[in-house]
Amino acid sequence: MPRTNNTFTIGWLYPDLMNIYGDRGNILALLKRAEWRGYDAKLVELGRGTVSQMDEVDVFFFGGGQDREQSLVYEDLLEFKQPPLERAVNSGAGVLAVCGGYQLLGHYYQTAEGERFPGIGMIDVKTEAGKKRFIGDVVVDAEIDTLNPKTLVGFENHSGRTFLGPKAKPLGTVRLGNGNNGSDKTEGCLQGTVVGSYLHGSLLPKNPHLADYLIRSALIRRGVDELLPLDDAVEMAAHERILQRAQHR
Ligand code: GLN
Repeated sequence: MPRTNNTFTIGWLYPDLMNIYGDRGNILALLKRAEWRGYDAKLVELGRGTVSQMDEVDVFFFGGGQDREQSLVYEDLLEFKQPPLERAVNSGAGVLAVCGGYQLLGHYYQTAEGERFPGIGMIDVKTEAGKKRFIGDVVVDAEIDTLNPKTLVGFENHSGRTFLGPKAKPLGTVRLGNGNNGSDKTEGCLQGTVVGSYLHGSLLPKNPHLADYLIRSALIRRGVDELLPLDDAVEMAAHERILQRAQHR
């Protein structure tokens, strides 16, 4: 199915195993916001052993998962997905990776019991789980220049502590919550067209400006740099609600 200029394809990595705390909402947000701009939005599900159509994907989504689910996907990611994913990203496709998915795009994820799952090293981060889980609302001041508003809101639930290497920069700074590791105030990461984050909830329905950032970044290679504005009153009301709640903490 060749990509036409009017097709916009979302690639969902491990929808059956890496999909918790409402992560599916990110898929719906990306599909709908592309559709509302007149694109023929398609979803490609990329479970274990599947790599077909990965070269047609505009934005990949890699959701969260508990240690057990991560242990079931990391070998497939290394063996089957890494080469086509790198090819797609090198040709301008975007990636949104949340929590467990974010961790496995890095160098490794080490569980609290000391078991290490190697990642694909697509982003310069490493993660080691601690004993205490980080759970709760998160408010982030984002470091993406074009993002308006500058805040991102969501929910975190992870034991992993992620540390960024020199090639990765933070997605933002936490105003509320633990973010990457509960110590350096950073949250998530930005490296090339890859966006990593600990924000579940799901992330994009309450942060439509980040959804548009991902869609626009993937369309740059088609010469598209502007997206038709949408009426985001409902989405931004949900965003504001989390901000207000955070202020009363
Ligand atoms: N298992 C990982 C951790 O605990 C990721 C959890 C998640 O995706 N919510 O940190």
